[in-house]
Amino acid sequence: QKRVQRGSVGVFNEDIYLALRNEQLMCEHLRSAISNGELFLVYQPIINAQSGALYAVEALLRWQHEDTLIPPDVFIPLAERTGQMQDIGTWVLHRACIDAAQWQFAENVSVSVNVSVIQLLDDSFIETLERVLSSSGLAPEHLHLEITESVFARNKEKVVAQINAIKRHGVSVSIDDFGTGYSSLSQLQSLQCDYIKIDRSFVQNPEEGSDTIIRATMLIAQEFHCRTIAEGIETEAQATRLTDMGADLLQGYLYAKPLTNEHLLRWYNNTQQ
Ligand code: C2E
Ligand code: CA
Ligand code: CA
Ligand code: CA
Repeated sequence: QKRVQRGSVGVFNEDIYLALRNEQLMCEHLRSAISNGELFLVYQPIINAQSGALYAVEALLRWQHEDTLIPPDVFIPLAERTGQMQDIGTWVLHRACIDAAQWQFAENVSVSVNVSVIQLLDDSFIETLERVLSSSGLAPEHLHLEITESVFARNKEKVVAQINAIKRHGVSVSIDDFGTGYSSLSQLQSLQCDYIKIDRSFVQNPEEGSDTIIRATMLIAQEFHCRTIAEGIETEAQATRLTDMGADLLQGYLYAKPLTNEHLLRWYNNTQQ
C-alpha cells in the first residue's frame, strides 16, 4: 500500500504522513481533554486474598473523546511524548485523592494511583504530592503510588531519591508490572517498596516458566518485606494458584472490572449483603 514518490529528494511515505498528522491531531485534542471534562477515573478493587475483604482500589484513567473511549495504553504514551503527562498526572492524583477521601467503607480502603516516570522525575512532583494530600484531606497512609519496574532503567539515583521522599511523607510505593522490565536484583536492593505487583502475563500463563518467576518474586518480596498483589485474576483457578503461591492481595475481573466511583460504591454495598 505504500506509495512512494520517485524523483524527489528522499521518499514520501503516505502511511507515515497520515500517522504523524493523526498523532498531531490527537495531541491537540488531548490538550483540551482536561478542561473539556473528557478525562475520568475508574476504580478497580484489590482484595485481601485471605479474608476476601476490600483492601485498596486502583485508579485507572479513561479518555472519552466524542464517541470514542480511547484506551490509556494509547493516550498515556502520547501524553508522555508531547509534554502533557505532568498536567494529566496531577489531575489524576488530585481526582483520586478527593474521591478516596470521601469513601466511607467499613474498612480503611487505600487508593492506588499510577505514576508515570515523567511525573516521578519531575522536580516539582513531591510538592504536587504535598499539595494534593493537604487539599484533598486524604491521610497519606491511604495513598499508594504505582511505579512501573521499567523506571529503574532511567536515572536510578533520582528514582530512588524520589521514592524515599514519597515514603517520608507516609505514602506507600508499589512496583508495577514486576518481572516484565529489566531491573536487576541489585537495583531492587536500594529500593524500599511496600508492594510488588505480579504482572497479568504471569498470572494468566499456567506454564512452568511463569510459576518459577512467581515463586522467585515471592522470595524477593519476602526478603525486602514487600506485600504481593497478583493482577489480572479472571478465574477461581488463578485465584487459588496465586493464593497458594503466597500472594497477599488479588485484583482482576473475577472480583470486579474497573468501575466508576458511583458503581464502586454500589459494588461494595452488594458485596456486604
Ligand atoms: P496497569 O497499571 O498494569 O493496569 C492494569 C490493567 O489491566 C488495566 O488496564 C486494567 O483495566 C486491566 N485489568 C485489570 N484486571 C484485569 C483482568 O482480570 N483481565 C484483563 N485482561 N485485564 C485486566 P487499563 O485500564 O486499560 O490500563 C492500561 C495501562 O495504562 C495501565 O496498566 C497503566 O500502565 C496505564 N494507566 C492507566 N491509568 C493510568 C494513569 O492514571 N496514569 C498512568 N501513568 N498510567 C495509567
Ligand atoms: Ca498499575
Ligand atoms: Ca500492572
Ligand atoms: Ca500492565
